[in-house]
Amino acid sequence: MTQRPVSNPEEWKDGEQGRKVFTAPFAFTWGTSDWPLRLCARLVSQWWKNISGEMVKAMSDVALEWFGHAAFKMQIAGKILFFDPVRKNTLLGTTLEPATENNISAIFISHEHWDHYDADTILALTSPGTKTHFPFSVASPFSCRLTFEVEDKQSLKKLTQSFSPVRINDEIEIDDISVKCLEATEGLSFLIKYGQKKILFMGDSIALEDMIEEKPDIILFPIWAVEGEESDMENFLKLAGESICVPMHFHNNPDSLPNFFIESDKLQNLFPQNIKLKVLERNVPVEF
Ligand SMILES: [Zn+2]
Repeated sequence: MTQRPVSNPEEWKDGEQGRKVFTAPFAFTWGTSDWPLRLCARLVSQWWKNISGEMVKAMSDVALEWFGHAAFKMQIAGKILFFDPVRKNTLLGTTLEPATENNISAIFISHEHWDHYDADTILALTSPGTKTHFPFSVASPFSCRLTFEVEDKQSLKKLTQSFSPVRINDEIEIDDISVKCLEATEGLSFLIKYGQKKILFMGDSIALEDMIEEKPDIILFPIWAVEGEESDMENFLKLAGESICVPMHFHNNPDSLPNFFIESDKLQNLFPQNIKLKVLERNVPVEF
């Protein structure tokens, strides 16, 4: 009879030496006649090995959710990161509802413009463990964005306690994830690295040399980097290479700001056919 100590008092009874022990409902020994059980045990152990491998694999995958414009949620290595979150806003076509989000490890803000930095959204997404990283331009006395939009002292304290300004080439470590701050034409862009995977969030920038050198696997890019007067398609194509390119900073809603309007089915026409474009639907997480 196999006996083992257990923690549930209802399963306990007196053992041979008066010790409280548990009597297992079935008994076996590892003799030669127990091969069916040994086979079962081996199959169970193999099954567990497979399923735990799948779990680890699933954890290493990246899930991206787009909320319109430049607002993204990234689930990576069991952590939740946000990029340029701006709550539901008709002008931008954003759909983020901060009240439904929690356990956010870090928020990254590319620059201080209103369509990328929104103090009220950051405040709503922030809990005690959340850090908010932004370029010093956000905190500049010229932009006044840090304190301008927060009225009560409690909110201001909560917000500023989460703040962690960053500069070009800073690397933020979040467990096994690293986020490198790269030069951008507005503020910063962010390169997220986990294992072999590299994801570039370009914010409001055209493609620059440092980004091209990094050869990211996934690129979140603003449409204006490839279309319009200030765009630079030539450098963008160098950056895109074999990467998956996810467009942002646009909408297809006639009620939103006309300067960000583009019909989704026209997006592919902006690029040569070999560019791997992946257009996300708002509020639908996609695994990469
Ligand atoms: Zn912008």
